[in-house]
Amino acid sequence: MRPSVAPGYADILGQSRVCQQLWAAVSADHLHHCYLFEGPQGVGKATVALRLAMAANCEGDAPVAPCGTCGPCRLIAEGRHPDVIEVGPDPAKASEMISVEQVREIIRVFGLHRHSARRRLVILDPMDLVGGSATNALLKTLEEPPAGSGFILITSRLRSLLPTVVSRALRIRFRAVPAEDLIPWLRSKGIQDAERMARLSFGSPGLALTMSESRAEELALSRTDLLRALSGDPKALFDYADALAAPPRSAFEPRVERMLESLEILLRDAVNQASGREDKLIEPEVADLTLRWSRVLWPGGVVRVESALAEARNRLRLNVNARLVVEALLACLVAELGPAAYGGGR
Ligand SMILES: [Zn+2]
Repeated sequence: MRPSVAPGYADILGQSRVCQQLWAAVSADHLHHCYLFEGPQGVGKATVALRLAMAANCEGDAPVAPCGTCGPCRLIAEGRHPDVIEVGPDPAKASEMISVEQVREIIRVFGLHRHSARRRLVILDPMDLVGGSATNALLKTLEEPPAGSGFILITSRLRSLLPTVVSRALRIRFRAVPAEDLIPWLRSKGIQDAERMARLSFGSPGLALTMSESRAEELALSRTDLLRALSGDPKALFDYADALAAPPRSAFEPRVERMLESLEILLRDAVNQASGREDKLIEPEVADLTLRWSRVLWPGGVVRVESALAEARNRLRLNVNARLVVEALLACLVAELGPAAYGGGR
């Protein structure tokens, strides 16, 4: 998503602390050679990265950089600046990883003179899709890029980065946007049911914007299907896994992702219940169910199901047979929840 080009960073919701820190580094000419932007999806990491590249190269005279209108600012906002390079998953590969070839290209470009920018920046988004050998090829350049060049690494999965990467970078933490900021902002964008969207998006403006009313309905339907599959009949469970993971990949990916999101929401609500935060429930309409889940799962079971969920996401990204991944996750849920999964139990 391209940022709207406005001076400074006043239009970036909920990240003023991070922005102040970064902009102070720009004005003191003390940018770190390798930033690691980490935090939940859709809270503005990529927007801030581009805006930082603009601020570092702005030629305007606005009181707060970036001005948003000078040549470099506009080129960067349009993704056409030769010295601000955004690298995502390799379109030439099926595996959705950032490939060794892409990393070699970055290293090659860093060996060349800069075109024009005061600051040449490579934005790797998401860094967690840079595989092991590609990371190893990159390490030396991450540590000592040529003068005037640097990196911004972006991730919402800090734990999947190699420690050798994290230790070379200056970590900048992005946090979820508090509901009291997000709700009025969503209303100002004409979003219906802003409170519910803010809850369902876990404080992520990007997610809330893409989460239309129909998507919220899809999540509810997906939850109903999931709970039915957990109802104790093994055949129902296998049929569900079959239907969910039926090829092609383009069709099952969104179905499986929605199931994972529904499960994530139920888990978060179980945690909210366990810690007495009923007012923070994401889906109050299934409060009875999540209360039962919390009694059975809290605390160890939550951790185990959460790690099974993370494992499922990782394996799906690595193209492991989706049906096997879904079955393994469901088996973990059934084992942890027992009859409480769908309504029985304690
Ligand atoms: Zn400018």
